Amino acid sequence: MPATIIDGKAFAAKVREQVAAHVARLREEHGLIPGLAVVLVGEDPASKVYVRNKGTQTLEVGMNSYEHKLAVDTSEADLLALIAALNADPAVHGILVQLPLPGHLNSDLVINSIDPAKDVDGFHISNVGLLGTGQKSMVPCTPLGCLMMLRDHHGSLSGMNAVVVGRSNIVGKPMAQLLLGDSCTVTIAHSRTKDLAEVCRRADILVAAVGRAEMITGDMVKPGATVIDVGINRIERDGKAKLVGDVDFASAAAVAGAITPVPGGVGPMTIACLLANTLTACCRAKGLPEPEGLTA
Ligand code: NAP
Repeated sequence: MPATIIDGKAFAAKVREQVAAHVARLREEHGLIPGLAVVLVGEDPASKVYVRNKGTQTLEVGMNSYEHKLAVDTSEADLLALIAALNADPAVHGILVQLPLPGHLNSDLVINSIDPAKDVDGFHISNVGLLGTGQKSMVPCTPLGCLMMLRDHHGSLSGMNAVVVGRSNIVGKPMAQLLLGDSCTVTIAHSRTKDLAEVCRRADILVAAVGRAEMITGDMVKPGATVIDVGINRIERDGKAKLVGDVDFASAAAVAGAITPVPGGVGPMTIACLLANTLTACCRAKGLPEPEGLTA
């Protein structure tokens, strides 16, 4: 049986619809408009595209979008002053500093200067600690999107064997924490893992967040497993630029029970979850009930 394709594009559209409906209610019942501030330092072309997409989608769900574009040589003091102003601004419920930052800026210092309650990327050390101890936190957007798709596909994840390939702070580690929170038995694999193929073949849920084009092949997938491909790799094939994941889609789809494609899988969920997090942050700030199903 061919694998079910988990359609992240369609799922993300549903999440955005849910967010938009909540935003409309907040406006009507409380005169409240959630606001997301995005800070971009420098001219990185990929970052500029991400920031533009975030701004457009923020406005589309009825939220306010505040874009702060700073010169590449902006000083740390000036950036920290802007974040302090956004922390204090009651119209701003979510703050995102687009990474990577230029080399002269200390990313950890900058991220940890964001009010944790407005840290919609979930990278502040307080949110990392809250997630790690199973407490209410702001959850990083990409792993949150993966979790939502897995819950939607399986219902309960309890007792499943999950393998996360990759241990970055932005994807691998929070993904593992979320799967643990849903009572999976979790293994985190990385570049020093021995016999990666054998480890992967134990997975009922296999999440690839490696950054290596098509390295997870069908022989590494347990028959019937659910494969979530976080990777975004730009390659050239037959003289054409192409976007591929960390999973070799054709061979993995022949074995898996379900699989996310690239593009159209995890990618679209990331911005949808950023909007969901901004809405959640706004509701928490105002002591209002949180929307259901939009956080971990
Ligand atoms: P990262 O910080 O570079 O981390 C990569 C991880 O993969 C590391 O933990 C590394 O292990 C591990 N790794 C590298 N080579 C390996 C190998 N041969 N075998 C096993 N593990 C290996 O990357 P990231 O930021 O987590 O991103 C991962 C991928 O997801 C990238 O393609 C990125 O573009 C994509 N991404 C997508 C989204 C989205 O919205 N869809 C968001 C974020 C990232 P070590 O720790 O041992 O070095």
